[in-house]
Amino acid sequence: MIFTKTPLAQHPVDYPAKAKALVTEMTLEEKALLLSGDGWWHTHPINRWQIPALSISDGPHGLRKVEGAGLPTSAPATCFPTASALASSWDTELIRRVGVALAEECQTHDVQVLLGPGVNMKRSPLGGRNFEYFSEDPVLAGKMAAAYIQGVQSQGIGTSLKHYAANNQEFERMATNSNVDERTLHELYLTAFEIAVKEAQPWTVMAAYNLVNHVHATENSSLLRDILRTRWGFEGFVVSDWGAVHDGVAGVNAGLSLEMPGSGDYLRNKIIEAVRAGRLSPAKLDEAVVPLLTVILKANDHKLSGAAFDAENHDALARRAAGESLVLLKNSDGFLPLDFRQIKTIALIGAFAKTPRYQGSGSSQVNPTRISTAYDELIKLVDKDTIVRYAAGYTEEGTTNEDLIEEARQQAKAADVAVVFAGLPNSYECEGFDRSSLDMPGGHNQLIAEVSAAQPNVAVVLMNGSAVTMPWAEKVRAILEAWLGGQAGGGAIADGLTGRVNPSGKLAETFPVRLEDTPSFPDFPSRNKEANYREGIFIGYRHYDARKIAPLFPFGFGLSYTTFVYSGLRVGATAIKEGDVVTVAVKIKNTGPVAGQEVVQLYVREQRSKVVRPEKELKAFTKVALGAGEERDVSFQLTRRDFAYYDAFRHDWIVNPGKFEILVGSSSQDLPLRQTIAVEVTEQECAPLTRYSLLKEFENHPKGKAFYPELAEAFGLGKPDEVDVAVRGFLDDMPVYKVCAFSEGKFTEEMLKEILQQANG
Ligand code: BGC
Repeated sequence: MIFTKTPLAQHPVDYPAKAKALVTEMTLEEKALLLSGDGWWHTHPINRWQIPALSISDGPHGLRKVEGAGLPTSAPATCFPTASALASSWDTELIRRVGVALAEECQTHDVQVLLGPGVNMKRSPLGGRNFEYFSEDPVLAGKMAAAYIQGVQSQGIGTSLKHYAANNQEFERMATNSNVDERTLHELYLTAFEIAVKEAQPWTVMAAYNLVNHVHATENSSLLRDILRTRWGFEGFVVSDWGAVHDGVAGVNAGLSLEMPGSGDYLRNKIIEAVRAGRLSPAKLDEAVVPLLTVILKANDHKLSGAAFDAENHDALARRAAGESLVLLKNSDGFLPLDFRQIKTIALIGAFAKTPRYQGSGSSQVNPTRISTAYDELIKLVDKDTIVRYAAGYTEEGTTNEDLIEEARQQAKAADVAVVFAGLPNSYECEGFDRSSLDMPGGHNQLIAEVSAAQPNVAVVLMNGSAVTMPWAEKVRAILEAWLGGQAGGGAIADGLTGRVNPSGKLAETFPVRLEDTPSFPDFPSRNKEANYREGIFIGYRHYDARKIAPLFPFGFGLSYTTFVYSGLRVGATAIKEGDVVTVAVKIKNTGPVAGQEVVQLYVREQRSKVVRPEKELKAFTKVALGAGEERDVSFQLTRRDFAYYDAFRHDWIVNPGKFEILVGSSSQDLPLRQTIAVEVTEQECAPLTRYSLLKEFENHPKGKAFYPELAEAFGLGKPDEVDVAVRGFLDDMPVYKVCAFSEGKFTEEMLKEILQQANG
C-alpha cells in the first residue's frame, strides 16, 4: 500500500465524548437528518458542525464502490474468495491479512465502512447466500469474523457485522418471520455475532430484513439493546439492511441508528413528529445519534487522503487465500498432485476452466481488477512440451448436448488424464433466492459421468459456494473443492493440481448425501412467511451426529498430500471449576513426504447431560504448518463457557456438573485423541430449587441434598434407602410440593418454604 501519510496515526481522541458534546448542541431536525441515509451509500453531512458524510459500501469479500448512474457498476477492486472459501482455510491470520487488504482498498476509494462480514449460520445448504457466509458452526464463523474485523479495522476502516439475526434464507426475505426458541437462538444463531462483537468490536452491526419471533429485526429491542449492547458490550451503531426498516420510529426506540438507504423526508418527519408527540424520548433519540456520530468522527480522523493500493500484491494475496481454501475431498492412490513427468497430454474439460465461476451474484459482486483462469495458469506451470486439450462440455446455464459431450469424450480419451471443472453456475446461487436442489446442473453431472467412462484418470475440480451432491464421486480418482475462489482462484487451482500448494482446507459445512438428510428439511424455506426452526440446536454436524446420518463428507474434513499423526493429548487439569482456564496440548507430526498444513480441531462432549445436547461441539482450532517429518506441540485454552449450554428458563449460560470429554483430531469424524475431565460448579451456579423441583433434584443439589432424606421420608412410603426400586423411582420423580398432601398435612407448606430458603440461601 502506498500512503501519502503514515497509516493509522494514533488518535487518542475520546470520540464518544466528542459525539455526546456535539449532540447536546444539535437540533432535533439535525439529529433526525442523520438517522436516515443520504441516498444509498452515504450519511448526511451537517456542515454547521463540520460533520462529514460517512461513505459506506459492500462487502464482504471485496469492495463494491458503486459508480455512475443506471445499472450500478463499481470501481475495480480485488475480488477475494467468498466467505465459504475463506472459512475453509480455518486460518484466522490469513483472514486478518485479507481484512487489512480490503481496508487499504477502502482507503483508496474513500470508503469508511465496509459492509461485511456475514456470519449467519448455514441452517440449510440451500440458503441462497451461503457463499457469503462462513459456516454451519458458530465458533468457526465467529472466529473468522473477528479476524476479518480486526484486520479491516486495524486500518481505520469500519465493518458491518451482518445480518443480525436469524437471517438464514433468501425466500421472501423482507417478510419472513424466523421462529426460533431462545436456547437455539443463543447457542447457534447469536454466538458468531457474540464472538465477533466481544473480540473485535465492529463499528457497525447490520439489522436484518426478517422478523425474529414476530418482531422486525430492525426494531427488536431484545436483540438490539438487551443482547447486543447490554450483554455483549457493543459500542458501535446499528444500521438497517438496505430497505429493512419497517417502522423507523420503533427502530430508533429499539436501538437502530441508521436507516439505509435514506428515505428522504419520510422517516425524518416521522422522527420529528414522534419526539414532539412524546412517542420517542429525546434520550432515546440521542442514544441512537451518539454511536453513529462517534463512528463518523472516528472514521473521518482515520481517512488517508491519496491512498492507493497495490493491485498486484492484493492479487497475490487473493491467490494465496484461494489456495489455502482448497479442500481435497478425495485422492485415490495419491492421484493428485498431477505428475507432469509422466503426463504428456492433459485434457481440461468444462467451461469453468476458461470462464471460472469465482464469486456470487448480488450485493457482494465485485468488479475484479483481473481474473485468472485455471486453463491459463496451468499452461504456465506445466512443462512446455505438455499438450493441453480443452472441451467446454456444457453451456453457461449448465446444460449439455451430444456434441459437447462427444467433444469432451474425445479430448479426454486422447489424454493421459482429464480434469473436469464443474460446480454451480451463477443462476443457481445468488442473493435474493434460495437453491431449489442440492444437485449441480444435469449437464455438469452428465459430463463428469461421460468423461469418467471414457478416461479412467479423472480429477474433478468444483467451483460452487455451497454443498452439492456428487452422484459420480465413486467414479473419479480425485475431487478438489475450490469454492468461489475469487479473481485469483484459477491460479490457486493450478497451484493445487500441480502441488505448488498442498491443499490444507477443511470443510466448514457438511456435504450431505441428499436433501432429505439435511437438518431443516422439510422446514426450509419458510411457508406462509413463517420459518420454523423446528430442528432447534441440531444443525450441521450436530444434526448428522445426533441422527447418525452418514454425510457425503463431514464437517471439518479435508485431505492433504501429506499425512499427519496426532499424539500426546495432555489436559492441564482433571477437574475444572468456575474461573479456571484449562490448557489442552497435543502433538502433531507430519509423517508424509512433503510440507503441509493441518487444521487441529478440538470438540467438547458432555457425557451424560441432564439436557439434550449435541453429541459434540467445536470449541477451538488452529492451523499448523509442518515440514516433512516435523512435529510440533499445539495448545488450546478452554474456559467455563466451553462447557456451557444456554438455559432458556434462567436466560443464561449454565454448566452442569459432570464428566466432559475433550476430543481432538483432524475432522468432526476423526478425533483420535480423547480425555475425560470433571467439571464442578459452585452452589450459586445450580438452578435454584423450587416447590416444583423433583425430589431427586434435591439429592443432586449441593445444599439441597441435606434435606433429601427428611423430605423423602415425609412422603410416608418408607425410608428412601429401604424401599424397593419401584417405590424409590416413584418417590424420586415426585414434585416436592406433593409432600404436604402425601403426609396428610403433617409436613406443612411453611416447613417446605423453610427448607427451600435454606437450600437456596
Ligand atoms: C444486502 C446486504 C448489503 C446491502 C447493501 C442488501 O440487500 O442484504 O448484505 O450489504 O444490500 O448493498
